[in-house]
Amino acid sequence: MRSRTIPGSSGRLRPMRLLGDPVLTDTCQDATVFDGELARLVEDMFATMYAAEGVGLAANQIGVPLRVFVYDCPDDEDVRHLGHLVNPRLVEVDGPVVRGPEGCLSLPGIEAGTPRHDRAVVTGFTVTGEPRTVTGTGYFARCLQHECDHLDGQLYVDRLTGLRRRRVLRTAARSPWAGQSGPAEEAAAR
Ligand SMILES: [Zn+2]
Repeated sequence: MRSRTIPGSSGRLRPMRLLGDPVLTDTCQDATVFDGELARLVEDMFATMYAAEGVGLAANQIGVPLRVFVYDCPDDEDVRHLGHLVNPRLVEVDGPVVRGPEGCLSLPGIEAGTPRHDRAVVTGFTVTGEPRTVTGTGYFARCLQHECDHLDGQLYVDRLTGLRRRRVLRTAARSPWAGQSGPAEEAAAR
């Protein structure tokens, strides 16, 4: 029997990149080498996500512009979904568009009602290169869409318009972490 280890238990914490850091607005590149370095990246991502008490994390949030995300996220039925995807593609979204509370480890302490499809299907690979298809509904579907957006250089705030968007950006610009990792005010002004 294979021994099971807790994801992230051998990972090291990496600094979280925050709104305003250019790595968050860049499109991430596909991983091309499925080696120990990629496995270590996933371990570090789990460790960093758990330390920050998040439910998902994309690689560019720790400054690595590769198409990789990890998650440990419940759906609306409280079923836990735990895993990672390398080179994920959002291949299907359907169901009603629901506006629900959404936050992001790159905008700590802020949350806003964000529209997302109720169901999402993402295909990708494991760190060892095995193909995977992940289907999510409810809050987990929201997480999958959120993480895929990160890899395309998008943040949930980019899904917001009008007053909601302005409120998030204003709160972010006034946050204690504003400007820590880049021109947050510039982003807020967009
Ligand atoms: Zn995020």
